[in-house]
Amino acid sequence: MVDRPETLRYPSMRGGGGSGPSRGGIGRHMAEVAIRSLRKNYGAVEVIHGIDLEIARGEFVVLVGPSGCGKSTLLRMIAGLEEVTAGDILIGDRRVNHLSPNERDIAMVFQSYALYPHKTVRANMGFSLKLRRMDKGEIDRRVNEAAEILGLTPYLDRYPRALSGGQRQRVAMGRAIVRDPQVFLFDEPLSNLDAKLRVQMRTEIRELHQRLKTTTVYVTHDQIEAMTMADKIVVLNGGHVEQVGSPLDLYDRPKNTFVASFIGSPAMNIIDGTVQGIGASGARIDLGHGTVVDAPAPPGLTEGARVKLGVRPEHMRAGETGLPIRVRVVEPTGSETHVVCQFQDREVTAIFRERVAFRPGDAATLALDTESLHIFDGASGMRLGA
Ligand code: ADP
Ligand code: MG
Repeated sequence: MVDRPETLRYPSMRGGGGSGPSRGGIGRHMAEVAIRSLRKNYGAVEVIHGIDLEIARGEFVVLVGPSGCGKSTLLRMIAGLEEVTAGDILIGDRRVNHLSPNERDIAMVFQSYALYPHKTVRANMGFSLKLRRMDKGEIDRRVNEAAEILGLTPYLDRYPRALSGGQRQRVAMGRAIVRDPQVFLFDEPLSNLDAKLRVQMRTEIRELHQRLKTTTVYVTHDQIEAMTMADKIVVLNGGHVEQVGSPLDLYDRPKNTFVASFIGSPAMNIIDGTVQGIGASGARIDLGHGTVVDAPAPPGLTEGARVKLGVRPEHMRAGETGLPIRVRVVEPTGSETHVVCQFQDREVTAIFRERVAFRPGDAATLALDTESLHIFDGASGMRLGA
């Protein structure tokens, strides 16, 4: 068992300050969690290919990526639920590779809430503390405080079956909060909730984090969840990191076409082209069939180069020159309208904030917002320029 004071440190003792002796660290750096050249094999198959990551104290980091990219495996290695094949995991300057989950001072919240059906909310929340043989008065104090934070006070004597999905998820979070861990780990905790509740719980978890400031690693496949919740997003793909950055960094400067099309909904349009010419005011990109558009000319762009032109849906508008398109589908959301169009042999999607009169079958021209275009190398898909 880790030597630590049995007092609840929230709301104020996380997020600032140095790491005290009870944190097991000597404050060499501010990373609460550090991952070094981490690899994972299942049998002969390597599923995590050498990941490096630093998570600062108090940071809310979201691991996002498509299904099967290794998010849960990475999180479970941090938790101590999966063995590490190679590399190191440090929590607060302690190398934890060979420590069991309950020696790591973490608390994990899963998609399946995994509540004990025959225990009340109060007993569910206090159970891990009881196992630790914590004093009953202290358990009550922590459970009551966590219940208060989560709005669960009226439900403390209920059984899980008498709770809604959202309430059950709050109990699962309560169970993590009472342990007052150094790091919270979440694995798709909102995936079982309906859309409206998901949005509400997103906000609640963020507010909880603002209050407790506990370092958090949160896994989701949902890029909107990642964008709205994260201080820092780590985009994973096929067991490696594609990019790490703040939500708007990733949105405004995706490093490659994978991140460009993964972050943002509807996705960025990515159109193949060839650099026709470069002048003082920028580049001219030939998109084929007589369509040529203006674009920025990042350093290194050369005439004749094959490129992929990235256009966010909100950076297109009806205009005189640009992409000749035919409207396929019009999707009003109320606040904006998504217009799915045919451009040559591909689909492009535009977002209009104003109401539009487009109807399926209409021919139109979509002008591109030149300054907002992204240019990627045609072969590697890597971003050109800043
Ligand atoms: P994610 O959580 O991003 O959907 P996972 O971390 O669950 O992805 O899985 C990453 C890869 O590892 C997948 O290819 C998956 O099939 C494989 N995998 C996960 N768990 C095991 C296991 N216990 N045995 C073998 N392969 C596994
Ligand atoms: Mg998973």
